[in-house]
Amino acid sequence: MPDYDVVVVGVGGMGSAAAYHLARRGARVLGLERFDIPNDLGSSHGVNRIIRLAYWEHPSYVPLLRRAYELWRELEYTAGERLLFITGGIDAGSEDSATVRGSLLSCEVHHLPHEVLDSVAVNRRFPGYRLPAEIVSVYQPDGGFVLSERSIVAHVAAAQDCGAEIHARERVVGWERRGGAIAVRTDRGAYTARRLVVTAGSWVGTLVPALAKAATAERQVLIWAQPLRPEFFRLGAFPVFNMEASEGRFYGFPVYGIPGFKLGKYHHRLERTDPDRVDREVHPEDEEVLREGIRRYFPDANGPTMTLKTCLFTNSPDEHFILDLHPEIPEVSIAAGFSGHGYKFCSVVGEIMADLALEGGTRFDLGLFRIGRLRG
Ligand SMILES: Cc1cc2nc3c(=O)[nH]c(=O)nc-3n(C[C@H](O)[C@H](O)[C@H](O)COP(=O)(O)OP(=O)(O)OC[C@H]3O[C@@H](n4cnc5c(N)ncnc54)[C@H](O)[C@@H]3O)c2cc1C
Repeated sequence: MPDYDVVVVGVGGMGSAAAYHLARRGARVLGLERFDIPNDLGSSHGVNRIIRLAYWEHPSYVPLLRRAYELWRELEYTAGERLLFITGGIDAGSEDSATVRGSLLSCEVHHLPHEVLDSVAVNRRFPGYRLPAEIVSVYQPDGGFVLSERSIVAHVAAAQDCGAEIHARERVVGWERRGGAIAVRTDRGAYTARRLVVTAGSWVGTLVPALAKAATAERQVLIWAQPLRPEFFRLGAFPVFNMEASEGRFYGFPVYGIPGFKLGKYHHRLERTDPDRVDREVHPEDEEVLREGIRRYFPDANGPTMTLKTCLFTNSPDEHFILDLHPEIPEVSIAAGFSGHGYKFCSVVGEIMADLALEGGTRFDLGLFRIGRLRG
């Protein structure tokens, strides 16, 4: 008899949620995390992550998002703590940008509440914004943010309450199918389980070599800048945004948790990296990329630097997620390649990973996320 029903490798955003959903269904779960819980070496640190429903990336994400919102609310109830903040959200770009067209498509297909606003309307309604005339915005009332480290703690605590065992500072060094079970080796011991769930973020390629080329790590940097007009950037006055500008895609948040306006630029300086050798220092060139966006579009936030942090994306070739059973070993399921937009889905990905590990399938349509699409 194996030691556990399921071993979860990587207890970050996705793994903590998977451990919870598995344990909640009565599975004997062991979660193994190589760093701390939570940690600031993977992809889920830096206080918060944007959540939005009118998903410009593809309408197929919207059913998952609806369930994600429900599960975040449930987790708040279980944890007795606020984790999801609704601020309203802006998806902006030129009229024919992928962002504006994609967001409107999701609104149409799924009948989502939204307003289309020109830059004058946005700048008047949300005075922290200074958008130029060519930028159109899709405003969605459901946009907001999730507290990312706090949600990992909440998922882990809820998993433990359901009987899960979680070990931090224990690195999985290898696994193999042995007899009818999966044998897992770590730097502290060895375990067997009926199923393995791999939620190892940027390190997925070390555990599933078949994905080493398809899920690649990329260095990112975030800034928190003290606003010059704090009243424009406080919670309640400033919606989260995601803007396809001529310089690239910026995203940002109202002030929360750190006394600064938080802004990032997708794909930052296009630095593919090895997650074990990533440059975690922040350099003047990093800050300049972010200051350029603040100066041009949010000049009233262009005050002193409060915090700068590095983080990791794990990109798939088409920037859609990888959610599937292992192509050769169906006892192993994988959640990876979240390409800089996965956190908001952690709650539902946890449920999906429990479905895949315990039932071998899920009621959610995973067509966009299958490993098979990555061949070749
Ligand atoms: C700067 C930045 C901004 C972002 N903004 C947003 C946003 O606004 N909205 C949004 O939805 N998403 C956003 N994302 C993306 C989102 O944060 C990620 O998609 C999500 O955090 C990925 O979660 P994960 O569980 O895959 O990775 P992680 O949380 O990094 O978890 C993986 C864990 O696996 C552990 N691990 C790896 N290998 C092993 C091993 N061998 N043994 C044991 N443990 C192991 C790691 O230590 C790590 O803790 C952003 C990401 C970044 C970097």
